[in-house]
Amino acid sequence: MTRILKKTQRLPEWLKTPLPKNKEFFKLKSLVQKYNLNTVCESASCPNIGKCWDAGTLTFMILGDSCSRACQFCDVATGNLNAPNPTEPQIIAETLSKLNLRYAVITSVDRDDLKDGGAGHWVETIKRIRIKCPEIKIETLIPDFQGNMDLVNQICEAEPDVLAHNLETVESLQSKVRPQCRYTWSLDTLRTAAKKDNLIVKSGLMLGMGEKEEEVIRSMKDLVDSGCQILSLGQYLRPSPRHLEVVEFVHPDRFLKYKKTGESLGLAHVEAGPLVRSSYLADQQARAVGLV
Ligand code: SF4
Repeated sequence: MTRILKKTQRLPEWLKTPLPKNKEFFKLKSLVQKYNLNTVCESASCPNIGKCWDAGTLTFMILGDSCSRACQFCDVATGNLNAPNPTEPQIIAETLSKLNLRYAVITSVDRDDLKDGGAGHWVETIKRIRIKCPEIKIETLIPDFQGNMDLVNQICEAEPDVLAHNLETVESLQSKVRPQCRYTWSLDTLRTAAKKDNLIVKSGLMLGMGEKEEEVIRSMKDLVDSGCQILSLGQYLRPSPRHLEVVEFVHPDRFLKYKKTGESLGLAHVEAGPLVRSSYLADQQARAVGLV
């Protein structure tokens, strides 16, 4: 059952997160600033930034700090689109080598303004990381390229280890939550990735936006049918009053119930909890399906 929250309602206890305090957090912050890189951790105001950065993990966001779409849940800026920085793939690779990570997550803004949607920049980024950090596992959280599966395929051919694309919400809420996206484009993206051998396919849904339980289950079935293996389920949090309101704070027990349901439907691993995000402890999610 969903209920409309009052604007003044406070976050439940289970959504409170610690402030960053460790040396590692400040080291990452200065590296990101020094090389003028973007992270989705900062751009999307992720509540896990203290925990992830303290642990030395972060998610780089390539192709600029501004998106060509205006999803109603997302805190990344829209418009003001600049040409991609051609040196960014190399800088990302070099920064990763300094961080000494075994697992890297890269995402991007949507760049529907570019002829190839940014696919070439993605391919170059994967290539440069492979050369500079051959040991590292690469997870790419990619856009839908407006349903152009040739572009999605270019990224699959560059052979990341994990290809992720988030469905974000159930079918009935797509036009409200992400009006420039299509449920079918997202499923096609995952289906295209699933055709490639040795590529782990992953997706994510946010809960608490007014979706019904049966709709979440329908989406999980659609994901299984599309070849998705890993699913992350987390609570939607409103980044600012300009964004969609939270309809419900989903109790942690319900996340566990969805995890069991998803895994019984055929997903190899469901990472579920109020603070779970697609890239949250992504290496552990991949480990659950035997990658690392
Ligand atoms: S969950 Fe992902 S986006 Fe959030 S801080 Fe961690 S790595 Fe960054």
